[in-house]
Amino acid sequence: MITSGISRRKFIRRTALTAVGFPFVSSLTSAALAAGDGPRKLGFALVGLGGLSNGQLAPALQKTQYCQLVGIVTGTPSKIPIWKSRYNIPDKNVYNYDTMTQMADNPDIDVVYVVTPNGLHAEHTIKAAKAGKHVFCEKPMEVSVEKCEQMIAEVKKAGRKLSVGYRCQYDPNHLECRRLAAEKVFGELKTIEAGFSRTISANEWRVKKALAGGGPLMDVGIYALQACCLVSGREPLEVTAKFGPVSDPVKFAEVEASVDWEMTFPGGLTTKCHTSYEQGDAKGFKVTAEKGTFGLDPAFNYNSSRGTRSDGEAINLPPLNQFAAEMDDFAQCIINNQPSKVSGEEGLRDVKIMMAIYESARTGKPIKLATA
Ligand code: NAD
Repeated sequence: MITSGISRRKFIRRTALTAVGFPFVSSLTSAALAAGDGPRKLGFALVGLGGLSNGQLAPALQKTQYCQLVGIVTGTPSKIPIWKSRYNIPDKNVYNYDTMTQMADNPDIDVVYVVTPNGLHAEHTIKAAKAGKHVFCEKPMEVSVEKCEQMIAEVKKAGRKLSVGYRCQYDPNHLECRRLAAEKVFGELKTIEAGFSRTISANEWRVKKALAGGGPLMDVGIYALQACCLVSGREPLEVTAKFGPVSDPVKFAEVEASVDWEMTFPGGLTTKCHTSYEQGDAKGFKVTAEKGTFGLDPAFNYNSSRGTRSDGEAINLPPLNQFAAEMDDFAQCIINNQPSKVSGEEGLRDVKIMMAIYESARTGKPIKLATA
């Protein structure tokens, strides 16, 4: 008879592995296998317990099929008792940014979800990879091309998987727009106009270059960039960009207040994009094709989007929890040893494009992209 927790886990692990002929024993730990008869669940640890973790990710983890919130990494001790009691997290699964490398000895944690300011993503991803964990990293992947490359290399070296939190890639209405484009329902694509803006307070890390990497482009403009690439299924060949005027030079001493940029894509597609921290009005995209238009507005809200087509049909598929969907998808990629839907290389590609946008805005010249 199996009595102790350890021997019960070993038993479940052995039988589960035997039953399904599971080929990747070393990348799956007990949390993934201790779910009894239900679906296999991977143990997630959230790194950084700020707005997104608190408001979206922890609640979304409760709605996943293949994940469970088992650990936290925080630099703020006062948050620990709240998270422990709210999500039933044991002391042994609580870390700070220095001790998180000790996760190497913790089989409960399979996946580390990095939700700290952009300029800390590489540090926390690399620590997680060195501890032998898979990494799901928030967008933007990092603040420089070099740091993204280091992240990819370290996760690869650890033999683990890496993905980036592009939640809109799981949104049914974004995927419907992708279908309309791919099936040429309105003919060849001609132009895309896309924008995402929000206002911001002066005391956020988002206006500090070292932590944010840049202003609204890195934070929300990236959604407009992603929409152009996702819907068209293409990567830009060239960018031209211009910074907008700054009405608050103190707040925007280190990062841009707004930027407009244009991209040219293969097949003659051109896009015009906008992002700003000074007005929060842009929030969608419109695709103009040979025989009509389609798009979403709002496109980038959490867990909901809707849109229209020029033939009068609505684009309004039922909403889903994008965060639960992205985490479940990553968990399934790990369980089935498949490539993650959003690769580290895609996160790196977008950082390269954003760096080219900044270079163009600084120099006033068009910048050709190596991704082409
Ligand atoms: P936040 O400021 O609310 O939380 C950041 C967390 O990092 C806090 O818990 C803070 O204590 C911690 N932290 C650790 N070191 C820090 C330091 N040196 N300075 C400041 N904070 C530090 O930010 P957030 O909105 O949760 O964003 C976190 C990440 O998630 C960012 O990369 C952001 O781009 C991304 N994000 C993604 C979405 C999305 O829809 N996918 C939405 C919001 C944020």
